[in-house]
Amino acid sequence: MSLIKISSAFDSGSIEVIEAQDPQNIQLNLRKDTNAEFMQWFYFRIQEVQGMDLKIDILNASEASYPEGWEDYQAVVSYDRITWFRVPTSYDGKKLTIEFMPEFNSMFVAYFAPYTHDQHLNLVSSVQMMPYAFVEHIGKTVEGRDIDMIVLGDDTDETKKKVWMIARQHPGESMAEWFVEGFMERMLDSNDALVRQLLDEAVFYIIPNVNPDGSIAGNLRANAAGENLNRAWGNPDPVTMPEVYHILQNMEWTGVDLMLDIHGDEGLPYNFISSIEGIPSFDAYLKEQLDTFKETWMTTNPDFQDEHAYPINDPGQANLNICSKAIGEKFKCLSLTLEMPFKDNADYPDPIFGWSPERSKNLGASILHPIAAVLPKIIKKEDPNQ
Ligand code: ZN
Repeated sequence: MSLIKISSAFDSGSIEVIEAQDPQNIQLNLRKDTNAEFMQWFYFRIQEVQGMDLKIDILNASEASYPEGWEDYQAVVSYDRITWFRVPTSYDGKKLTIEFMPEFNSMFVAYFAPYTHDQHLNLVSSVQMMPYAFVEHIGKTVEGRDIDMIVLGDDTDETKKKVWMIARQHPGESMAEWFVEGFMERMLDSNDALVRQLLDEAVFYIIPNVNPDGSIAGNLRANAAGENLNRAWGNPDPVTMPEVYHILQNMEWTGVDLMLDIHGDEGLPYNFISSIEGIPSFDAYLKEQLDTFKETWMTTNPDFQDEHAYPINDPGQANLNICSKAIGEKFKCLSLTLEMPFKDNADYPDPIFGWSPERSKNLGASILHPIAAVLPKIIKKEDPNQ
């Protein structure tokens, strides 16, 4: 009888065990999101395996939401849950196979380095002690968790431009919260002159995790009611989509001059932006901001590129239930969906770590440059000088 133990009964854990007797024939299944059909995120612990040659098959991989996500994909593992490295992984069009010999008796395996609810609480709790930051409760999730908003800068000054950043509408896209952590670390460095310049011009409203229920549940895309929150921005139901309902209400109170929605993409091995070319209000004014944003970011961080991305919507064809499109149209502002890879950046690949928390954080810290470049181009409608 095998002693191998597999569990996922912890924050963000998700897997189903079919068979775990033989180290060379461990059979697992992906689990569906809460009350939804989405499926792709996995995060589990495997024990009593030190020195064993493991072959782990995820049998239903081809039924995942984005099976193209398994092509050229390598799973991540960690012994200490701090350092996550890639291990040999293959996909035969049906099952995903992870092969590895653990050096220690207990290890964790995941789709991408997780960002747990404790990490989230640490992030929002520590920033409030900075002089120009405060943390606000803006509502509760379906399961009654707090929706946290961080405000950076002087939000009583009406002349300041309002920059919004939200992350993890799709909870399995944990790189999005790593990105926000990197952004926050830089924004809290008062020795950084760029930060001072940005805070002179703008106030930042940041939601590090839109979907904590889904994150804890180990979902890829859904909240606890099974809703895909990034299709909820046209008319969010306060009962089944309270996360979006409350954020949108706060956006209406503050106004929005620039909106950044942070995501991860299963398929494309690049960082890219999906923007608002397809919204009815897209015009030369918004195009100039979009071009400035992308060009500045490419020249300041080569991990961002604009060659590989989603097809651009034809004029007027954007889906206005998607956050960036809805906010761009509602507030006539530049509004972007940023996608980071689950795999790696194919332009600058890292065979050991792939796309990682550290690179997500560095990308988050570098977004200050395109924000600084685009802010002077934004005309505030209520500004009497305009
Ligand atoms: Zn997403």
